[in-house]
Amino acid sequence: MKVLKFGGTSVGTAARMKDVAQLINDGTQKLIVLSAMSGTTNGLIEISDYFYKNNQAGALERVNMLEQKYDAIIDELYSSEDSKKEAKKQLSANFDLIRSHSKSVFTLFEEKAILAQGELISTAMFQLYLKEQGINSVHLPALDFMRIDKNAEPDTLFIAENLNKLLTASPDAEMYITQGFICRNFYGEIDNLQRGGSDYTASLVGAAIKSEEIQIWTDINGIHNNDPRYVENTKPVPVLHFEEAAELAYFGAKILHPTCILPAKLSNIPVRLLNTMEPTAPGTLISTTSKKGKIESVAAKDNITAIKIKSGRMLLAYGFLRKIFEIFESHHTSIDMITTSEVGVSVTIDNTKNLDNILNDLKKFGMVTVDRNMVIICVVGDLPFENVGFQAKVIGALKQIPIRMISYGGSNYNISFLIRAEDKKEALNALSRALFD
Ligand code: ADP
Ligand code: ASP
Ligand code: MG
Repeated sequence: MKVLKFGGTSVGTAARMKDVAQLINDGTQKLIVLSAMSGTTNGLIEISDYFYKNNQAGALERVNMLEQKYDAIIDELYSSEDSKKEAKKQLSANFDLIRSHSKSVFTLFEEKAILAQGELISTAMFQLYLKEQGINSVHLPALDFMRIDKNAEPDTLFIAENLNKLLTASPDAEMYITQGFICRNFYGEIDNLQRGGSDYTASLVGAAIKSEEIQIWTDINGIHNNDPRYVENTKPVPVLHFEEAAELAYFGAKILHPTCILPAKLSNIPVRLLNTMEPTAPGTLISTTSKKGKIESVAAKDNITAIKIKSGRMLLAYGFLRKIFEIFESHHTSIDMITTSEVGVSVTIDNTKNLDNILNDLKKFGMVTVDRNMVIICVVGDLPFENVGFQAKVIGALKQIPIRMISYGGSNYNISFLIRAEDKKEALNALSRALFD
């Protein structure tokens, strides 16, 4: 059975939902993962923000606006009065739950329960539409099988066991519908897989049911060779290796959640990226195949902080790097990029929550300097070192840009640069001109 995930824009209007229903209704059994309708998660974050600030009136005004938007969508989506009535009844329960937070203390826990309403609403509406169309679909509540552990990592055994139990209970459904993004945490509370996490749900679900293919349906024809938000005339990349796609997702290609390739890769399930607005376009196929020797795509990851530790004691000092890395580990901060020299080491992080503590600890080992507001530019392709010349080509493209760090050799799939945020657009465009024109 294939898993198909439809993102926010793909289900963003009544018309789009109807298109998706038509697109999936081809007589084969499928598991459908849906995001919240576009704009909803942002709207729910805004509502939460009012609750945090104890501005109940502001929050309730935003809730009413969102509910009115949904009322209009309901009127357009369903043809029968009964379906309209049923949808309004279901959605009032979601909106009443959001409103009920105006009377309680507001914490991260309540915010997560509010954020979950986006996906709960879109799946309820979609399923009701399928019912109206006479399509036999079964709801698989993500909160009953999608779980993360104490480290916020997916509990894959729990997910597989409980999801497969639900599927076995309804073997004859034409469609199974579940929510992307939302899950429960180790303590049983409502949680989520971070922004854009519906892609991650799709690949976790795909791996859990040993799916033949995971399809991510979005608003563009697959992964492009550069970020279309900053570069004009980008083109879709037809084929990518799991490793190439994982590098792009991790280093900023917004089209994929940063870690969503891993479950598919571990289970060797191909991932296909497709465009809901142009369903016949080939998109991108991610699998164990890659185009030999080709530079495929460029991505950028924002909000990077670089830390340099210079120490006279690094010479011949085994254990120096371990001590440095232990500091980051003890402050639960992962390192993205590393460069070393005889006298020092530079690393980058994107989570600066514990930066002050990290810096205090690092100062015991040497002179510490920090560069904020940096960007990692990541060039991805099949790049073994024997392919002479690709590094020169990439560095040549960036000859006008001040480069703070360069990293190659961690894998055969990526060469990364750290630059200033203000140079990002120029760097992405220069790379497109040099590598793809
Ligand atoms: P969805 O709501 O379907 O999950 P997203 O907005 O998360 O969709 O991702 C799709 C968007 O990702 C595209 O509209 C595009 O602007 C952006 N994007 C960024 N980098 C790339 C890339 N390399 N290839 C394709 N799209 C990209
Ligand atoms: N609705 C969530 C978000 O906007 C998850 C997703 O769309 O993937 O981040
Ligand atoms: Mg997304």
